[in-house]
Amino acid sequence: MSAYHVVIIGGGATGAALAHDLTLRGVRVTVVERGEVTSGTTGRHHGLLHSGARYAVKDPESARECIQENTILRRIAPGSFELNDGLFVALTDEDLAYYDDFMEGCAATGIPTRTLSREEALRLEPNLNPDLKLAVQVPDGTMDAMRLPLRFLATAKHNGARVLPYHQVTELVFQGRAVAGVRGRDHARNRDFTLTADLVVNAAGPWAEHIARLAGVDVPVVPSPGVLVAVYGRWTHMVINRLHRAGDGDIVVPQRTLSVIGTSSWVVDDPDHLDVPEEHIRLMYEKGAEMIPALAQAPMRAAWAAARPLVGSRQAESGRELSRTFKVFDHADEGVEGFVTIVGGKATTARAMAEVTADLVVRKLGLDAPCRTREVVLLPHTAYYA
Ligand SMILES: Cc1cc2nc3c(=O)[nH]c(=O)nc-3n(C[C@H](O)[C@H](O)[C@H](O)COP(=O)(O)OP(=O)(O)OC[C@H]3O[C@@H](n4cnc5c(N)ncnc54)[C@H](O)[C@@H]3O)c2cc1C
Repeated sequence: MSAYHVVIIGGGATGAALAHDLTLRGVRVTVVERGEVTSGTTGRHHGLLHSGARYAVKDPESARECIQENTILRRIAPGSFELNDGLFVALTDEDLAYYDDFMEGCAATGIPTRTLSREEALRLEPNLNPDLKLAVQVPDGTMDAMRLPLRFLATAKHNGARVLPYHQVTELVFQGRAVAGVRGRDHARNRDFTLTADLVVNAAGPWAEHIARLAGVDVPVVPSPGVLVAVYGRWTHMVINRLHRAGDGDIVVPQRTLSVIGTSSWVVDDPDHLDVPEEHIRLMYEKGAEMIPALAQAPMRAAWAAARPLVGSRQAESGRELSRTFKVFDHADEGVEGFVTIVGGKATTARAMAEVTADLVVRKLGLDAPCRTREVVLLPHTAYYA
């Protein structure tokens, strides 16, 4: 292991995958997380292992990232996914008119598809709207939002990383204009802490802008919340999407014995204060039931909101217009050495985000250490607590 120490701020999907990547490259890593690991956006996401088909027409870069990572994750995290596939269902003539663009987009981004007739789709999923016109099968899957990042963290810990939950960063430590560590509050022991580091990575998701400000730099991150509604009953086995331009309430993910309908999209200033508007819950029911009529009567188990850390400008109105791809920022470009930010992406693409970030980190540290996370099989999530 090299003598270099990197502190990662944020124990979500991105920070977890980055800890794994850097430890495999021989870097000493500490992850500091202000709450429990995955307590930010990651632990509250839909649980969809994206095939990328949702983004194939409007956001092809993100679609390519999703299908590539979907394939890699199945290999390195066996047992973490239901290999249930997804269906994009066309219900109206307008949906049908989108079919050609959708198929072209999937072909161009490398997403495998199989078109099913109405009868074939209903044979696979009898609870779908019987008026559907056709469906397209894609390699979506269901995952547990917490357990996949736990596997990254478990493997990172096994390789020497330290993970410090309930450690909130409130300040960056400077040596001149270079970031040389973090300072903050250990909420578990109710005391302050300081960690020195050769480099600090800001992987704070929708809070990344706040952390960047501690260094006096800006990152263009837009916190864009969405509401998810879990209802009783596993009404389909596959992930069900509406065959149209991505919109509200057009994905239903079966999770254990529940179905999770999502989502909506708006933009906020503060990711710590998210409403769950009643009208969004109603909209999830309404839109979900267009695809699976039984959802209309299904009792609600829970509704919650989480904020996407999207890359873009605050001029965005709903967040839907912003890409789901990701970006890494070397703040040396603004005169602050030793400080890197990674934002955007999806839980599905966290490994790729980590690879690009770790490539930059090792280059900055002067190490010659290639990425190995495409091949190394992750430890089970239970190893995190061992
Ligand atoms: C409604 C919704 C549904 C989604 N569904 C899916 C899906 O089905 N599939 C998919 O692939 N993606 C999905 N996404 C996207 C995905 O959830 C996010 O892209 C991903 O979880 C972001 O991970 P992250 O690690 O970058 O951010 P986070 O998970 O938010 O991690 C950042 C962490 O930083 C911590 N932190 C903040 N400030 C500090 C501080 N001062 N000190 C220490 N720690 C700090 C936070 O507590 C947090 O845990 C969804 C997003 C939303 C909003």
